[in-house]
Amino acid sequence: MLKKRIACGLAAVVLALSGGIGFADFGAFDMEIVASADIVKSGKCGDNVSWELDNGGTLVISGEGQIYNYDNTSDKRSPFEASKIKKVIIKDGVTSIGSYTFYYNMYIEDITIPNSVKSIGKYAFMYCDNIKSLTIPANVDEIEEGAFVHCSSLESIVLPEKLQVISHDLFSGCSSLSEIKMPNSIKSIELYSFEGCSKLNDIKMPEGMTKIGYKAFFGCKSLTSIELPKSILQVDEEAFLECTNLKTVTIPKSLNYIGEKVFGYSKGNGVAGTTKIEDFKIYCYKDTAGEKYAIDNGFDYELLEDIHEHSYTSKITKAATCTANGVKTYTCDCGETYTETIPATGHKYTAKTVAPTCTEKGYTLHTCSVCGDSYKDSETAATGHKYTSKVVKPTTTAQGYTLHTCSVCGDSYKDSYTDKLPAPVATKNSISKTTAKFSSTAVSYTGKSKMPKLTVTYGGKTLVKGKDYKVSGKNCKNPGKATITITGIGNYTGTKTMNFYIVPKKPTLTKATSTTKKKISLAWKKDSLADGYQIVVYSDKTCTKKIKSAMVKKNSTVGGALSGFTSGKTYYVRMRAYKTIDGKKKAGAFCAAKTVKVK
Ligand SMILES: [Zn+2]
Ligand SMILES: [Zn+2]
Ligand SMILES: [Zn+2]
Repeated sequence: MLKKRIACGLAAVVLALSGGIGFADFGAFDMEIVASADIVKSGKCGDNVSWELDNGGTLVISGEGQIYNYDNTSDKRSPFEASKIKKVIIKDGVTSIGSYTFYYNMYIEDITIPNSVKSIGKYAFMYCDNIKSLTIPANVDEIEEGAFVHCSSLESIVLPEKLQVISHDLFSGCSSLSEIKMPNSIKSIELYSFEGCSKLNDIKMPEGMTKIGYKAFFGCKSLTSIELPKSILQVDEEAFLECTNLKTVTIPKSLNYIGEKVFGYSKGNGVAGTTKIEDFKIYCYKDTAGEKYAIDNGFDYELLEDIHEHSYTSKITKAATCTANGVKTYTCDCGETYTETIPATGHKYTAKTVAPTCTEKGYTLHTCSVCGDSYKDSETAATGHKYTSKVVKPTTTAQGYTLHTCSVCGDSYKDSYTDKLPAPVATKNSISKTTAKFSSTAVSYTGKSKMPKLTVTYGGKTLVKGKDYKVSGKNCKNPGKATITITGIGNYTGTKTMNFYIVPKKPTLTKATSTTKKKISLAWKKDSLADGYQIVVYSDKTCTKKIKSAMVKKNSTVGGALSGFTSGKTYYVRMRAYKTIDGKKKAGAFCAAKTVKVK
């Protein structure tokens, strides 16, 4: 069928024009003379798609959904087949262009395809010989076989990025096509797809493409060099046959199937044979299908060096710290290395509040949990000591002082020192502190110095005269007030004075008689040391029953008489001398009593 189609040429056009639905009543090629654009024809070309043609040759197709699929052999021919349409505007909403829709439209120069279109059917633009350029919208992901067969004026076409297959015969016979940019999505170029594209001189096949089909570039006589993509796996028989100017082919390692006479052959003379293209050279890799093809076919070839692509593995060769950058080293197996800087991580501080003490400020301490670096801030004042004072008394070996101690931290200091106590001296007891007692308060005059028995005690202990004290006296002889001085000696010191009385001696009653009725006459010896005398008369011999007492106030009086007694009765008379001391009469002892019988 393909062979048949390639063979048909202009004869087919004539057939189509005469046999098709066509626009037989539209007039032959005379649209240009019509001045205004009137709708001259309309119809349906899809279930929900309609068309209108004006008399200027502009066809507008609008509606929703697909344009019918037509063919060129049955009664399902396109209403536009072999028409004289010049311009086609397909409105948004139409989703496909059906098979053979614009078959044999040799006058179409301009066609607008909307973004709503997703597919283009087979042979849809076959023999549209007047289209020079075409943009296939981005949503189209399928263009069926032969859609642009023999668009002989087509110089450039923009293919959508969703397209994966250049279907067979797609651009076959597009003899003006000089350049085509393959979308990166293309995976395979099917058989005959660029057959006879004799102007095609630049074709870049995308990485990812795996297959080139049978005679895909047959007769592309303007191609001079081909570099197959690194992904290519299969190139079928005669794919580049008759590319008579193709002098170099670069074959990647990936290519593992190369059909017969793919590269380097022309059809040669005659039907049977093929001949090698002169100066043809293959660039390939050692031990690959490319090299085998060159050897098997006897072509000049050149082995390519493996282009090493670095494959790096990375390793941290110097870890970043808080403050210093680290280094990451990338190394390829080939030894090539490069480094990358790892930025310093920066400190990770955690804060801790430290309370002030008596003497130290408080603060917030920021410490890096990673490296330990720290700094302080937010200082608070020291609290100061809280001293309490205690006075410590001096001893004989140490000074006294006031001790100040902090109740919080225990810190202490001393001040207000006081002198040590004097060293202890042998202590002497003071006589004044002793107790001194006389055995009596008075002694009688003897003509000699004397005093009552003296006892001195201290703390229950009796002091020894001559060892502990000595005694000196004054006025200790005659009647009166005597004074003694006790002076401490030995372990005692100081003095103490004491007094006692010396009273007159017993007087001498020389006479006690009664010569006159009821009277007693008395006489005694004078005591010049006394101040006076007392005479007492008793009725009993033991002198307990006192009858009469008389005071003699002059010591010079040495006799007298007492009256008033009972005649014939016996009385007992005795006397004593006295001395007035401190205003009081201090008497001595009585003399023995004399017995008197009164007359
Ligand atoms: Zn490397
Ligand atoms: Zn740190
Ligand atoms: Zn303190």
